[in-house]
Amino acid sequence: MQPDDISLADVLLARRRIADVATRTPLKRSLNAAKYGFASLHMKMETAQPTGAFKVRGAANAILMLPPDERARGVVTASSGNHGRAVAYVAKLLGLPAVICLSKLANPAKIENIRRLGAEVVVDGDDQDAAMVIAHEIEAERGMTYVDPFDDAGVVMGQATVGLEMLEDEPDLDAIFIQVSGGGLAGGIATAAKAINPRIKLVGVSMDRGAAMHDSLKAGRPIHVVEHKTIADALQGGISLENKYTFELCRRHLDDFVLLSEDEIAQAMRTAFYDERLVLEGAGACGFGAIARLNSEFQGANVAIICSGNNVDPQEFKRIITG
Ligand SMILES: *Cc1c(COP(=O)(O)O)cnc(C)c1O
Repeated sequence: MQPDDISLADVLLARRRIADVATRTPLKRSLNAAKYGFASLHMKMETAQPTGAFKVRGAANAILMLPPDERARGVVTASSGNHGRAVAYVAKLLGLPAVICLSKLANPAKIENIRRLGAEVVVDGDDQDAAMVIAHEIEAERGMTYVDPFDDAGVVMGQATVGLEMLEDEPDLDAIFIQVSGGGLAGGIATAAKAINPRIKLVGVSMDRGAAMHDSLKAGRPIHVVEHKTIADALQGGISLENKYTFELCRRHLDDFVLLSEDEIAQAMRTAFYDERLVLEGAGACGFGAIARLNSEFQGANVAIICSGNNVDPQEFKRIITG
């Protein structure tokens, strides 16, 4: 399958496939549109997913697309974050074995959270890349299926249901700001949204240090980017030098890209909390940072952002909100 082959029909099928596993989330209207000069501001509430982030959509669709015998052998991935949680959650719901590989750097609270979802957790390897190698070894040894966090057609179709739902609820959207890490969310939303309304503007949002997709788009091909620590930790990581789907989808469909500083992301978390009473992780709040930066270009427009996740440590949240 090529990136282009992912059609709106695939997204409609994905929506049916995942209906019992992932939640159809609200597109909440903000009362603060005028603060930015927008006609309307809408927030896609992916925090309402059972795991607190949209990743359950892609994981559910990819796993449910597996033939029954492959599915029964179980799934494996390497992610300490929202994708690992999503795979563990979906496997538990479907009664499948799941192995989540985490590096020795993984935070003990996150390891415990994934264990609590019933998955087998393998803690080994010095970094994320090493954990990924171990996940592929387990894939080969145990005949399990590796579920990629973003660069997989099934995952992209699942994340695309976010865009489908948004345009169903608000057909007159002019622009959507979308957080980009591996590009599964942006590539998916773009596939659905541009099929429904080719004139809609899609703006990618990342942190300004180690934005792998942004830098790859600039270079014209997937490149390796040095990782930096960021409060938008869910946006860290590369897009893979052998990227098959998401680079091409983002290249084709993203109309603009904005990179946020750590201060802007912290400010976005405060805006989400004080203006909207939302608890968002750094990555989840980036839409607020993007509209604070680019609002002058979208005066009078109907704008939407994605509240993509809420998995933030309470102490860290408190520090940012009060600091
Ligand atoms: C994974 C994730 C993203 C980015 O999604 P990609 O598909 O990797 O681009 C954004 N926000 C949150 C909360 C995430 O977990």
